[in-house]
This record gives sequence, structure tokens and C-alpha cells, in this order.
Amino acid sequence: MRTYHARKMDKEAIYPYQAWKITEEEFLLENNHHNEAIFALGNGYMGLRGTQEEDYPGSEETTTPGFYINGVYASEEIIYGEEAPNLPKKGQTIVNLADWSEINLYINEEKLNLLKGQILDYQRELDLQQGVLKRRVLWEDRQGRKIEIKTTRLISFSREHIGAIRYQFKAVNFSGKISVNSAINGDVSNHHHLRDKKPLEVLESEVDTNTGHLLHSVKSTKFKIAYVVEHLMDDYSKENCEVKKRSSDNRVDWIFEISAVEGEEYIIDKIVGVNHSQNAGENPLSDARASAARASITGFENLIEEQAEFMSGYWQDVDVKIVGDDSLQQAFRFNAFHILQAAGKDGQTSVAAKGISGEYYEGHYFWDTESYILPFYVFQRPEVARNLLLFRYNTLDKARKNADRMKLDGVLFPWRTINGEEASGFFMGSTVQYHINADIAYAVNLYYQVSRDQEFMENYGLEILIETARMWLSLGSYIPMKDNKFCFNVVCGPDEYKPGVNNNAYTNYMAKFNLDIAVKMAEIIKRKSPEKYKRLAEIINLTEKEIENMKEIKEDIYLPYNEELEITPQDDSFLYKNPIEVDTIPDDELPLVKNWHPLIVWRYQVIKQADVMLLMLQQGDKFSQELKIKNYDYYEPKTTHDSSLSPAIYSIIASEIGYKNQAYNYFMQTARLDLDDYNENAYQGVHTACMGGTWLSLVQGFGGMRMFNGKLYFHPHLPDGWNNYQFRLRFKGSQIEVTVEENKAKYMLISGDKVEFKHYDQIIVLEESNLSKEVEI
Ligand code: BGC
Repeated sequence: MRTYHARKMDKEAIYPYQAWKITEEEFLLENNHHNEAIFALGNGYMGLRGTQEEDYPGSEETTTPGFYINGVYASEEIIYGEEAPNLPKKGQTIVNLADWSEINLYINEEKLNLLKGQILDYQRELDLQQGVLKRRVLWEDRQGRKIEIKTTRLISFSREHIGAIRYQFKAVNFSGKISVNSAINGDVSNHHHLRDKKPLEVLESEVDTNTGHLLHSVKSTKFKIAYVVEHLMDDYSKENCEVKKRSSDNRVDWIFEISAVEGEEYIIDKIVGVNHSQNAGENPLSDARASAARASITGFENLIEEQAEFMSGYWQDVDVKIVGDDSLQQAFRFNAFHILQAAGKDGQTSVAAKGISGEYYEGHYFWDTESYILPFYVFQRPEVARNLLLFRYNTLDKARKNADRMKLDGVLFPWRTINGEEASGFFMGSTVQYHINADIAYAVNLYYQVSRDQEFMENYGLEILIETARMWLSLGSYIPMKDNKFCFNVVCGPDEYKPGVNNNAYTNYMAKFNLDIAVKMAEIIKRKSPEKYKRLAEIINLTEKEIENMKEIKEDIYLPYNEELEITPQDDSFLYKNPIEVDTIPDDELPLVKNWHPLIVWRYQVIKQADVMLLMLQQGDKFSQELKIKNYDYYEPKTTHDSSLSPAIYSIIASEIGYKNQAYNYFMQTARLDLDDYNENAYQGVHTACMGGTWLSLVQGFGGMRMFNGKLYFHPHLPDGWNNYQFRLRFKGSQIEVTVEENKAKYMLISGDKVEFKHYDQIIVLEESNLSKEVEI
């Protein structure tokens, strides 16, 4: 491990190691910002930062409150320092929406403020098994009155439009008036990007005794967002309570005045329905109202039960068990929980780089989804993977326009987007990464190979494969000075520190794969469903000649290899740049993205993130073990891992080539990145790709799982210090469980029909008559 990374990891854990929980044991302002992301709740549709219900008493720099809906954005002109033709005109930014979680408590007129008076006891806990966030505070005001508050919060997984909070309190040593002010606070704006601008306007607000709503519209994009609140109280609380209400321009308030009796507990449940209009004319208010009404009838306790039931099903599919390391056990569950929270599941949205847990990266979707998160779903919850791919299908027209903008054929998927249009003006970091087309094609193929979802491939997948493949034909060219090979010039691989280069190896190989798979799938569908094929060919103007052209060109693509060093050059110029090793760069100059001018970064052989290494993984069947070792030895000392997407991939390749220590160290850099806040930026939102990478580095790294040409392979080993680990995978409609111990691996068929795969060189078949098999490692 490089000293820079070792230093970052040499930190004390922020939370105790617990198998199913993340617990905050003390209220500390300095941890607040980080906690807001760690304790963020979401369900793929909407997300709420882990702020407390009461007003935050600390400084503005230590908080970024936020409630977001995946895919709801504002759009504004991109302002360029210097104009150039064909740059994207407008950006997209996820909007910070109304805060419906606000609840303040007053003892007489004294407002509960955790910085005044005294906190006698405090605990907040994210319960990963139940999918809820619980908090208990025992607070004494300056007059010695003690109050106990318990909150339970959830964003429902089974009802995507529902959030709920139970607010429970007890006057511990006094009787007297307690007022609880519950609100929908519509006076909000973004903290970054749209700062100083108010993207929202309130169209309507209304309040009744226990219910009320607010209707927002995003000025620039005309999304309408409705928040409907219903309060429920138990009979005892109700009897002793007077409710006052008011609505103003951008707030709806309810004040529950209770004559509290010492030692008695009072409960207010806040049920919230949220909906938005995707299209003008839709009425999100009546939909939100209906969702809230249904959830209120169900009642808070049943919502909690539903949530636990949902989670139990989820863990059946995705739980990775690690015996022998509690910190990792916790990390796996935490990461899997956030991946669940982040993923859009409606075919209209995807997974933002920060999920729905923060505003950074503006709520944009990147290649992160297809390359880091989709495999997690493909092998565990394929129906979510399908919907993530449908998002790309549904944005094909915008990707066609994007290709047009760049004088290209077919589609060019945007590097950063919410609505399917390119949202980044910084083209040397975005549009230049044409590889996103191949990454999406790769994901389409992976989903198909694992799920065998023929209907998907026929109706959606093939169109994506052909249209992405077309782009490569128009981007590349036969270059006489390169032996007349088909080359891709002025591109950028995953390593963003080398934009505008020729023949990035990752890009060229992945483009070849994209063309190859497009041609193969076209042939399969033409044979299996000629009518469907014919219809698609007509719609997208696909001719036999074009398929022939693809076949020819894919064989002519230039595939870089350097004879002298016997390695895969990252691109045509990489090996000729100024040599440098990361260990020679002073710690305080890292990450380079924050400390060096891009031109400095570009002139060195320094790498931001796995590039050739990712190629060694995605196209691993095309490279020898020897070449993988040589490539690893060459590139590893030059890689800064300034992107959190990097260590996981190094870990996987290190596992494969037998560098077990390095595999473990890189794995550790990825697994607890957010929990332990190695990069000191988790407050911005969790790193979803890195979380997906953690799963990849266990299953593909230590488990050595690979899928090539529709076949499944395992090369497992057990890291030192672990007793065993276990994970489950779905494959062609069946589910298997893999358990790895010190000298053996056990494969078990959990459900479905026969599954065949290879364990090292041994063919294993699991079926009804042979449900499990134990083999030596
Ligand atoms: C990485 C990209 C990634 C983006 C969003 C950047 O720092 O270099 O590969 O897509 O972050 O996670």
C-alpha cells in the first residue's frame, strides 16, 4: 500500500463494529456532516439526508440538509469561460426539495437545542436488518427539566412514495406544556451548484388539523412535487392535545400542544406521501394524497413491519457473510443497504454517483452504474438490473442527438446526466470518455448472459447494442501509419488523468467487444425471432451491409501491445510521458485532482484510477496471467487511486495474480471508505460505485468469479484471518450459495434448475440429485 493511503486508513473507527447496525454514540458537531450521509435514508425514488428532526444548532459549514427525488432536477445554462461550438448548452442539477422531516419540540417556550442545556444520553442507530433509523435523546434544559425523545424514521421500500417518522417523547421529571411543531418546510434551496438561486416556487399550500400539503414546482423544468402529511396520534396523546396550524407562502406548520404528565409517553406519527409529475398534466397531489391516506390506514407499526419483511427478503439475496472480521461484516451490509437505497427501479431513473444521499455530482448518473453497480444487481436482483438498463433504453433518442452533436452515428451516451442529455461542459473529463457506450453494451450483455431474459434482448437490448456499436464505426478510422489498423483517436479511458489520447487500450478492446456482441446478438435474434429482427432493422435502418462492416472492422481494431516492456500500453503516448511514481509525490499534493493543474497531471505517467487493470478484468479471457502480472507491476506504482472507483479493481487483479497482501490492502481501502471516511468527503454523499466495487472485490477478487461467453468460473481463496465467507448468486434463473473456507469451497443450489460452472479446472454441476458440492482449494 502506498504511504499516502496507509496514512489515510490509519484512523480510528467512527462507529463501533456491529454486524447489523451503525451506531452514533455521541452527538458531536464535528461528525454531523459525515453522519448526514451515513444515516441518509432512501428507496431509489427519494432520499432524505440523515439530519435530525429538530433544527440543527451547529454552523452552516457542518450541515447540508437535503431531501431529493431521484431524477427531479433543475436546469440552467452552462456558463463557459471560453465558448466553443457544439458544447452542451444546459446542465442538470438535482433539486433540494421541501424538508418534510422537520419537527421541533418546546418545553413551555424553550426550544430543544442540543447545544444548550445538557445531553444526558444519546444514541442514533441505523438498523440494517429492519431498514429504519432510530434515535434516543435524553436532554435536560437549563432549568433542569428532563425530556426523553425517541424517533423512528423510515423511507418505505415497498411503497416508494412513503416516508414516515414516529416522534415519541416523555417528560421525565416534570409535568407541563410541551409543544411539538411539525412542518413541511418549503423554504429550501440547493447548497451547491444552484447556490444563491431559488429553483423552486410554491404553487399551493394547505393545512388542516392533522393533515396538509405543499405543492412545489421547479421553475426551470416544470416538475411539480407534492408533499402530503398526515399526523396520527394514539388516543391518550390526542385527548391531551390541542392542535394549532398555519400555512404560509412556503411552510405548513402544525403545533401540537400537550399538557404533559410526568412519566407519560406521547406519540405523534408523521406519515408523508410524496409524488412528482414527470409530465405536464399529471396530478402529483392527488397521487401523493392517496399514498399518504393508504399508509395512514396501514399505520406506522405496520409500515415498520413491512419494511422489516422487505429487508429480510433483500438480505436473503444479497447478504455476504464474513466470519472472522466484524468491521468488514458491518461494511458489507452497510454498503448493500446504501446500494439498495440509491438505485432507481422504475426504468426512468438510475443510480447517481452519490445515490440520493447528497447533492454532490449534482445527482448525475455516470458509467458507475453499469460498470460498478449493475453487476451487484445482475447476480442478485436481476429485475433491478433490467430497469437500470431500461433507463438507458428510454434515453436512446437523447443519446442519438448527443452523437449527432459530435458528428457521430448511432448513439453516444452522455457522460453525466439525469434526463439523458449530456450535462457536463467539461468535455476533457466527460464527452471524451466514449467508452461509456461500450460499458453500457457490456452491461446489456452481462445482464442477458446471466438472466437469459430473451424478451429484454429482443425488445430493448439489441437496439442498444447496435446503436452503441455504430458510434464506434464513425469515431474510428483506418490509419495508414498504424499499419492500417482501425484506431480511435482523441479519447479518454477510465483514467481521467489522460484525456485526449489516441488508442486507449481499454477503449479499443471494449469497442471491439461492443461490435462483437452487437453482431453476435443480431445474428441470434435474427435466427430466433426473425419478425422482431426485421421490425427493429426497419426502425433503425440496419442493413446486412452494416453488419458485415461491423464484422470486418472489429477484426481490424488496433490492440496495443508494447514488445519492449511486454505490457499493454495504456494508450499511444502513455509510455513516453514523464516517469513518476506515486510514492515520490508529497502527501499534501494528493489527490492530484485538487492540487495540480491538469496540464501538469497530463504530462506524467500518473494514473487516477484503474484503466488497463479494468481492461484485465472486463476482458480477462483475452490476456495471459503473465501479461496481467507485468501490467500490474507497471501500473500499480503509478496509480494514485484519486478516484474511489480504483482500489476495488486493483484488489481483484491482485487476487487473480496471487498478490494476496495487495489484494487485501486494496480491498480494505474500498470496503469501509465511507464508514471510516478515508477521503474525508463522505459528507458529500456516499460513494455508490465504490460500494458496488466492494462487492466485486469480494466475489470477483477473493471468490475469483468470472463470466466469459455465458460461462461461470470460480477461483476462490480465503484471505488470512478470516474463518470463512459466503455469498449468493443468481445464474440463469437459479440461485447458488458459495462458501469459502480455509482449504475448501462449498457450492450449494438454493433454488432453480441445474447450474454448471468451473471451480478452477473442475467442472461442477449442481442439480436436484446433487444439491451441493465441496471441493478443495
Ligand atoms: C471518476 C469517474 C467517475 C466519477 C463519478 C470521478 O472522479 O474519475 O470515473 O465516474 O468520479 O463517480
